[in-house]
Amino acid sequence: MPPQLHACHRTGSCCRGRGSCTLTPADTARIADHLELSVFDFRLRYTHASPRGPVLKIRGGYRGDGSCVFLTEEGSCEIQPVKPQQCTDYPLWERLAEDCDAFEHARSECGMLRHLSHAEFQQIYAASQDRTR
Ligand code: SF4
Ligand code: SF4
Repeated sequence: MPPQLHACHRTGSCCRGRGSCTLTPADTARIADHLELSVFDFRLRYTHASPRGPVLKIRGGYRGDGSCVFLTEEGSCEIQPVKPQQCTDYPLWERLAEDCDAFEHARSECGMLRHLSHAEFQQIYAASQDRTR
């Protein structure tokens, strides 16, 4: 039996203190539309600029706990149906397949990964990429 991800435990850990969530232009348009905001107003209210493009704000700014602005107190996502591609893809991120330290950090917080070695995760990631080709 090939290694598999476990089901998501819906802890919201991946939405806290894990760096920034970068939006693609399609993410921005989809989320703005869902919130019935213009792209300009959405970006002003919920994002800030970064060298990689707009990123979602975090609650309480840099003095807060690092939670994404759309993470609810119950640990769910307020924009679940239209959440950014980066969030949809997690934990199947290229960075976690390439960087063992990053994988180990993610594994310590994520129930989908906790049972996997890095090599097993790399197999799962490679298979997921094959399926999308
Ligand atoms: S957009 Fe939703 S899924 Fe993505 S980091 Fe924010 S709360 Fe989490
Ligand atoms: S950290 Fe892992 S188990 Fe927890 S919500 Fe994120 S993807 Fe799901």
